[in-house]
Amino acid sequence: MQQFPTKEELRKTGKVYCEGCQHFEPGSTPGGLGFCALTKNRQARVEETGKMVPDRQGLPPDTTPELGCAACFPMAPRVCGKYRDRSASVTL
Ligand code: SF4
Repeated sequence: MQQFPTKEELRKTGKVYCEGCQHFEPGSTPGGLGFCALTKNRQARVEETGKMVPDRQGLPPDTTPELGCAACFPMAPRVCGKYRDRSASVTL
């Protein structure tokens, strides 16, 4: 059976789990198991047409293959500059 590293072990490698992030919203998505709230309704303007189109909605904000999975999986290690610890927001 695969052992997942603890939060602290993971952070030492510069990675995090979406599950521990206050921006993560669990749910079934095409190719994932949750949304990133930061991109859930994000749109981008197409320069050629001037139209606004969906932009990575629900997916991690800046994913490249080096940063982690393309979709949000609760326990998939990723590098994410927008990560905000869920437990920190509860202890206010
Ligand atoms: S992609 Fe980043 S900001 Fe979004 S839920 Fe995952 S860790 Fe949080």
